[in-house]
This record gives sequence, structure tokens and C-alpha cells, in this order.
Amino acid sequence: MNKQILLIKRPQGMAADTDFQLVETVIPTIAADEILIKNEYVSLDPAMRGWMNEGTTYIKGVGLNEPMRAFTAGIVVQSNNINFAVGDAVQGLFTVQQYVISNGENISKIDTKNIPLSWYLGILGMPGLTAYFGLLDKGQPKEGDTLLVSGAAGMIGSLVGQIAKIEGCKIIGIAGGKDKCDYAKTELGFDEVIDYKNDNVAKKIKELAPNGVNIYFDNVGGEILDAAMINLALGARVVICGAISQYNDAQFNGLKNYMKIVSARATMSGIIVFDYFPRAEEAIKDLSTWLTEGKIKYKEHIVEGIEKFPETLRMLFTGENYGKLLLKI
Ligand code: NAP
Repeated sequence: MNKQILLIKRPQGMAADTDFQLVETVIPTIAADEILIKNEYVSLDPAMRGWMNEGTTYIKGVGLNEPMRAFTAGIVVQSNNINFAVGDAVQGLFTVQQYVISNGENISKIDTKNIPLSWYLGILGMPGLTAYFGLLDKGQPKEGDTLLVSGAAGMIGSLVGQIAKIEGCKIIGIAGGKDKCDYAKTELGFDEVIDYKNDNVAKKIKELAPNGVNIYFDNVGGEILDAAMINLALGARVVICGAISQYNDAQFNGLKNYMKIVSARATMSGIIVFDYFPRAEEAIKDLSTWLTEGKIKYKEHIVEGIEKFPETLRMLFTGENYGKLLLKI
């Protein structure tokens, strides 16, 4: 049998258990040119909260009573497609279920000889590409720059900080609580870390970056984005990657200090990682090298059991995840 998680209600605020239903169906049968994949891991991503809403942003919302969309990684268990053999490891944008069918388009075959399958949903997958291209392409780091990043102990923030360090930047992180701040400083090598749950963020940024911030990489939005804005240096680059503090609110809180873009002659740009998928190999090559050389550290937080999907998803919003959050199914 095939267990799957359906979206049965549009969440109001934080996604509730009752917004989803776990169902069992028969394992689907493949047609000509198709493959059957047994999913091993589901990636939990903050963007999923947006995908549960009605309408289309950069991607269409998930339909009601349909399996919840997710990046997954698994193994081909049946193949009618000459490009895939039984036993191949693959990853792609699928749904939260144990077995999925694909015609082989828009999925990547991955090499798991020396690299765990799950890493292709994290550091060598969609989030890794977001950090890599978001920082290097949009943030344009230069040696001596001061980089500020929110969500610094999380998947993308931790990687952005570490890549910026390789590029010769001073790196300041923002994270929630003493444990995450200590982790960012001692394990990830952040020069300074601000605890947004206990510090006055705007004041602390000013103290730690008296000449201003050259790059602000934003994962959280809201008041933290405003606090960063007033501390921009001349010519600063603000990269808007996400706004997790706002995803559960019916209405987004907008930017107040936007005139700082004018006085600092700053630029603000958004990134959607999908645009960079054709360049994935560039990022995977560099990230793999840095991992092998010990220049970057990567941490996963794996929860087991497809039935735990709703509660695991909520961990992203309560800050309970330590590193890349995955569900082993
Ligand atoms: P993550 O950082 O591993 O996990 C989410 C973290 O957000 C939590 O651990 C929590 O850390 C923090 N957080 C939650 N609520 C918060 C709040 N109200 N205020 C401040 N921080 C809060 O997640 P991720 O996968 O790396 O994603 C980070 C961001 O990147 C998200 O905004 C996501 O939507 C975005 N993203 C964008 C793209 C793109 O293409 N643009 C692609 C992927 C991801 P603390 O415990 O420190 O609060």
C-alpha cells in the first residue's frame, strides 16, 4: 500500500493536523516511459505554507484533497523509461507519499556513492542552491564586506554565512535563543550572532557593524528586516529570500524603513531558486568541494514517519528544527 498526505483544508494561521489527512491507496501502476519511485525522504520547507494557500504566486497552490507538494528523494523501483534503471537514486518536486510515478522529466538522477541521499534535499538540493546563488549572484559579496543574515542557524542562513566567510566577509547572524546563537558562533564560525528573542536587534546590528551592513540576506522579514534596513551601508545589497515570520499571517507586514534604499543607494532583489535549476551543477560542484575541505558544516534534523508530517512542518515556524528539516518516510 501507498501512504500519502492530502491537503484537505486551507490552513488559517499555523497549519493544523486537521488540515491534512493520511490515506492509504494501492501502489500505482506505471505506463509506457514511466518510472515508479519509492520516496525515502520528504523535505520540509517554509514555502510549503504558501503552497497551501489558494491561488498562484510563483507556483500554483496545492489543490484541496490532493497530495501535499514537496521535494522528495527516493529510489526507482520499477522502470519503463530507458533513461532510468531500477536502483537509480532520484530527487525532484513531487508530493508527500511513499510511492510516486514520474515520466522522468524535471527530476535529477543523483550520485549516492559517497553522498547520502538526503543531502540532495538540503545542502546539495533546492535549499543549497538558494543559499549559493542568492548570496553569490544577488548579494555579490566582496572581501571585507559585512554580511548580515537572519535565520542564521537554519538551513539556508547557516550556509549563506559560511559561504560569505569563504568569500572573505565578516559574518553576523541573527537567530532565536541562546542555543542556536551558540551553535552559529562556535560550530558554524559566525563572527557575531544576535539573539532576536532577547536582544534589541537594530541596536545590536549598529553596535556590531558600526560602518553598516554591506549585504543583508533576509529569511524572515517583518521587524528584523526593518532593523536591518536602518543599518545598511552605502551601496548595500538586500537579498529577499523569504519572510518566514509572516507566512502564517493573513496579511504581510510591509517594510517601514524602505527610504533607506534611497539614502544608502542600496539595491533590493528577490530570488526564486527555480530560476537557477539549470545551473545546479555549478553550485553542487563548489558546495561538495567546500564540504570535503571542511570549509562548511551541514546539519540535518530528521523526523521519522509520514504520519508526523503536520507536526514536523510546524517545527519550522516554532524554531524547533536544528538544521535542515526532513521527514524519513
Ligand atoms: P530554516 O531556517 O531551516 O528553518 C526555519 C527557521 O526560521 C526556524 O528554525 C526559526 O529559527 C526561524 N523562524 C521561524 N519563525 C520565525 C519568526 N517569526 N521570526 C524569525 N525567525 C523565525 O528554513 P530554510 O529552509 O533555511 O528557509 C529559510 C527561508 O528561506 C524561508 O523564509 C524560506 O521560505 C526561504 N526560501 C526561499 C527560497 C527561494 O527560492 N526564495 C527557497 C527556499 C527557501 P529560529 O529558531 O532562529 O527562530
